[in-house]
Amino acid sequence: MRCKIPVTSKRRVLCVFPAYTPSFGTFAHAYPLMGGVKAFMPPQGLLLIAAYLPESWPVRFVDENIARATGADFAWADVVLVSGMHVQVEQINDIRRRAQSAGKVAVLGGPSVSGAPEWYAEFDYLHIGEMGDATDRLVTLLDESVARPPRQIRVETQERLPLSEFPQPAYDKVPLKRYLIGSLQFSSGCPYRCEFCDIPALYGRQPRLKTPDQLLAELDLILRQPVRPAVIYFVDDNFIGNRKATRDMLPHLVAWQKKNGYPLQFACEATLNLAQQPEILAMMQEANFITVFVGIETPDADALRSIDKGHNAKLPILDSIETINSYGMEVTSGIILGLDTDSPESEVRLREFVDASNVPVLTINLLQALPKTPLWERLEKTGRLDHDPGLESNVRFLMPYDEVVAAWKRCIAHAYTPEHLFTRFIHQMDSTYANRIKVPVRSQLTLANLRRGLVLGFNIALRVGLLSDYRRVFWRAAREALRRGQIEAVFNMGFVAHHMIRFTQEALAGQQNASFYAVRAEVPAPRAKRQGFLAAINRRAA
Ligand code: SF4
Repeated sequence: MRCKIPVTSKRRVLCVFPAYTPSFGTFAHAYPLMGGVKAFMPPQGLLLIAAYLPESWPVRFVDENIARATGADFAWADVVLVSGMHVQVEQINDIRRRAQSAGKVAVLGGPSVSGAPEWYAEFDYLHIGEMGDATDRLVTLLDESVARPPRQIRVETQERLPLSEFPQPAYDKVPLKRYLIGSLQFSSGCPYRCEFCDIPALYGRQPRLKTPDQLLAELDLILRQPVRPAVIYFVDDNFIGNRKATRDMLPHLVAWQKKNGYPLQFACEATLNLAQQPEILAMMQEANFITVFVGIETPDADALRSIDKGHNAKLPILDSIETINSYGMEVTSGIILGLDTDSPESEVRLREFVDASNVPVLTINLLQALPKTPLWERLEKTGRLDHDPGLESNVRFLMPYDEVVAAWKRCIAHAYTPEHLFTRFIHQMDSTYANRIKVPVRSQLTLANLRRGLVLGFNIALRVGLLSDYRRVFWRAAREALRRGQIEAVFNMGFVAHHMIRFTQEALAGQQNASFYAVRAEVPAPRAKRQGFLAAINRRAA
């Protein structure tokens, strides 16, 4: 549904999504292998706003992960609309500077400003909260005038637009073929209250939902683009935040896949207690879900309880991972170092966990305190927030800072030593990949897919198989995959390893952040970031 507010003016709206700061989770080093891929995932939130604006307002959409907004773009616009995550704070403010230099009114919405509006004092308008009555108010204000107001104007959503009334995101405004993965949203909000997470405060604890029909219509829209990502990521905060709704929706997704010959694979984020939901797991397998991101955070059950994440420790963690793997889904995992419960032994236990879990991709990062979280409040009260931009985290750890950062370095070095990484991939071949459903090959045999496969295959053979210093271990794993007929695994291992190993090398050389989602350069406020896989990407993680 579009905005119903009647407008009298025509406003040209330039939507600009900022570039990401490089991180483990953006896979940026893998793009050159993919032939034309330039960015991680379409920005779901800004595409939604673009679709919601009055029909008579022309919209131009620029994702600066693909190409920078030009002077001509700014000159064309009456209004510049920006959205982004905390990790993009510098880039957000840079777009604002460029818009205002061009004499245009600059408007900011999205998760970062909703969590920390004080970071954005120089924007002309701030839209705080999700789409809702504030969005309509903003439309009214811009309809009245696009002159820059003398003082900042803030509009804040009190009444959210139900997800069932969300318009289809404006996928037609972005070239989906330029993205590594696609994005889709079914629900918003999460019932849990993990101490470090801002989701419950920002999006509520009662997950709100789209209808299955809405979801399928969005998939149809995505399918209309001749070249699109093979994997669509559900950006929901927690895919099983409302289990009944997930259970009711999945048969529709399965039916859509069958009807269309399984053109897509899916991924999502969920809490580890997904492992206790065999019915949901079976339907996810049938719908061709291949990856689940889980914020495991720590292998220590007591530490999980201390951060109010005891729901992840209901079953032994390794058993839960094994269960999810047995339904064909690879687990990727968020890990946090620097928790109050950490001791010198935590590092050793974490490295043992990495090996024992056989999870290939783990985003290991330092604890960060986010505004609007119980963690932030607790640390603020006890004087344990530190906004020194020279530090890798805004948390005063209980262990010495240097020891925590050194432990982080040793942990990522261990996890992404090529031998260890490819050993974990080899384990996945039998424990996970062999359990995926066989999809009809015919639907995959498009010219675009063949071309993409050839480009990727050539680049992996050249850059990973021939030129990399870990080619020997890559070929050992590739032989294992080929012996099992798992060609897709060769491609997947190639591009994931290429990014992870290179990014780790850069991080160890001090060229990247120890805090996965932190911003290295100075920002006007805490550099706190959520700990999830998508926190730096688009929305969130369970
Ligand atoms: S970390 Fe995940 S499970 Fe915990 S509150 Fe946030 S979204 Fe929910």
